Amino acid sequence: MVLDIVQYPAPVLRQKGEVITEVTEELRQLASDMMETMEDAHGVGLAAQQVGHPIQMAIVDVSYDEECVTYCRVNGQDTKLEDICPLVFINPYIEPVGEKESESEGCLSFPDIRADVIRKGEVVAKVTTLDGEELIIETDGLFARALQHEIDHLFGKLFIDRMSSARKLKLKKRLKEMQEGYRS
Ligand SMILES: [Zn+2]
Repeated sequence: MVLDIVQYPAPVLRQKGEVITEVTEELRQLASDMMETMEDAHGVGLAAQQVGHPIQMAIVDVSYDEECVTYCRVNGQDTKLEDICPLVFINPYIEPVGEKESESEGCLSFPDIRADVIRKGEVVAKVTTLDGEELIIETDGLFARALQHEIDHLFGKLFIDRMSSARKLKLKKRLKEMQEGYRS
C-alpha cells in the first residue's frame, strides 16, 4: 500500500526515532508499504518519520546507477549496489568520514526543493536488517549521501539543517509557504 508522505513542517519529522527492539509482522508490513511508497514517489530513500512513525527504520535504494559510488563494501566484501539495495534497515549507527562535499539533494518531505547540502563524502554505517543481520557498510558517492540523509531523519534532523545559511536564505520564502500551508 502506498502511504501518504508527511510534509515539512509536520512535528513527527523532528522526532527522534525509537530504537526497534522487536521485528513484528506489523513492522514488516510497514517496511513493505514504505518500499512501495518510495518507489511510487521515485525516491532513493525514505525514513519511517516520513510516513508518520518516529522509529529507527529507513530504506535506501541507489541501485538504479551502479556508477553512483566508487566502492561499496558490506562486512568487508566488495558488493554490487543491486545486491544490497533496496536496503531496509533498523537501529543504525553512522560515521561519516572523508572530505566534505557539497551536492544537490532533494527530500520527499520537501517537494519542489533541491539544494546543495554539505556532507562528508564517505561513510561507515552499521545497520541491522529485519532478519537481525548486522551489516557494516563502507561506501561513498550517492549511497553515502543517501545513508546520511535517511539516518539524519531517524534522529529528527532534516537536510535544511545542513545547508549553508546563504542557501537557506534563498529557500526562506518557500519554507514559509510550506509552514503556512501546513497550518491551514
Ligand atoms: Zn528526506
